[in-house]
Amino acid sequence: MNEELKPCPFCGRAVDRDLSDTLYPNGTYWIDEPRGRHYHSRKNRTRHSQPCWTMHCTECNGGCGAEISADTEEEVRAKWNCRASPALIGLPVIDPDLLDTSKEAGK
Ligand SMILES: [Zn+2]
Repeated sequence: MNEELKPCPFCGRAVDRDLSDTLYPNGTYWIDEPRGRHYHSRKNRTRHSQPCWTMHCTECNGGCGAEISADTEEEVRAKWNCRASPALIGLPVIDPDLLDTSKEAGK
């Protein structure tokens, strides 16, 4: 059903199999209203409120403590699994052919 979680995007540590400390509703809730999405605390939730989720690289298990939050579990999983491409973050993209030394030897 859910896509498998990749290692932490910051430190590379594998995600714990027991997700109870790693992936959880974080206590903030949201509801869509005519003027847009409204966020509120657990105290003010209604039966229409939806929980926000956090994915956490737990320090107590050797992780780096990084957290990513989103409005749904599916969204936080997708954010956690997202990896920046060099072009997206403005780094030069290296042509893989330049790294292939076997072609060099054939010249
Ligand atoms: Zn980490």
